[in-house]
Amino acid sequence: METNKMIPITKPYIIDTDIEAVTSVLKTGMLVQGENVLALENFTQQYLGDVHVAAASNGTATMHIMLKVHGIGAGDEVIVPAFSYVATANVVELVGATPIFVDINLDTFNIDCTQIEDKITPKTKAILAVHEFGLAANIEAIQTICTKHNLLFIEDAACALGAQFNGNKTGTFGHSASFSLHPRKAITSGEGGLIVSKNKDFIEKCKVLRNHGVNPNAGHTGFTEAGYNYRMTDFQAALVLSQFKRFQDILDTKQSIAKRYLEEIKNSKLSLPKIENNYYHSWQSFHIVLNGISQAEAIEKLKTSGIGSNYGAQCIPQMDYYQNKYNLNAKELFPNSYNAWQNGLVVPLYPQLTDTEIDHIINSLNKL
Ligand SMILES: *Cc1c(COP(=O)(O)O)cnc(C)c1O
Repeated sequence: METNKMIPITKPYIIDTDIEAVTSVLKTGMLVQGENVLALENFTQQYLGDVHVAAASNGTATMHIMLKVHGIGAGDEVIVPAFSYVATANVVELVGATPIFVDINLDTFNIDCTQIEDKITPKTKAILAVHEFGLAANIEAIQTICTKHNLLFIEDAACALGAQFNGNKTGTFGHSASFSLHPRKAITSGEGGLIVSKNKDFIEKCKVLRNHGVNPNAGHTGFTEAGYNYRMTDFQAALVLSQFKRFQDILDTKQSIAKRYLEEIKNSKLSLPKIENNYYHSWQSFHIVLNGISQAEAIEKLKTSGIGSNYGAQCIPQMDYYQNKYNLNAKELFPNSYNAWQNGLVVPLYPQLTDTEIDHIINSLNKL
């Protein structure tokens, strides 16, 4: 096939009606957080059911606010997976608490719950669990541990909008949850995020911190907190809301591409993601682990075939900031996280892929 056109690792799925939704907001001249942000929050609430929602400027700001409102700060410890996007640990640092890393399970790329209890101390306040690449973490195990040790369960669901466990959607399991609307995720506002909680009061407090600490119920001296400006603009909300309305189609298409990959990629050097029956994977990323070919070589070979690919996530304790601060021997302490970082490979999976492109990706992977 013609390979002078690169198949990118991902591509936001923005169609004409999405663009029209944005331009119609621009024409009103009302650009900052307004009725479209509210409409996005209401739509998310309906989509997830039985939760309250606050939109914010990105999926890191969301978690920063959430940890603040949960009262997590200096002297506290938060359990995080050693393998994730670095923001998962950065937000713990941002509030002055200490991230306590736990290795992942290589079948799911999610936190290995059998290793959590060993890391719990009197300082532990929360488990910040990631649903990596769109697959829910081990919800039951995390809930059991949180109940037993009186910990908060916070979901970093940044890449898992639409994912399910036992028929329930991610974002509805923890005390609070965060979604990202970055272009690498299934639907996007450019930059954006959503905070979700069953606790209405919690969401109200998040909304105050999101908007300079302004408490709408406290009159004109009511700057009740030293807040942030983590608002989403109204045209961004319109952009993502328009995609959200056709989200099930987006998920279905991704599902059928992932199914082809799982059935047709056959190469002993590639180990494919595994999904248990009661999980619905939202396929933010299709993440393969390589053995017998290096990551650099695989990326280079695929690039020669016109296919974009990259590593999936970081082994966070190995990143410079965390090395300098905590000096943990990540390779020894978190071998699965280290392996996934060093040998993980994300390949293109997005709704606009054509059958020819999918064939080409499968054939190229089978030839690696
Ligand atoms: C994308 C992502 C984030 C960060 O979200 P932003 O909106 O880019 O700030 C955090 N955690 C995980 C697991 C992610 O995948």
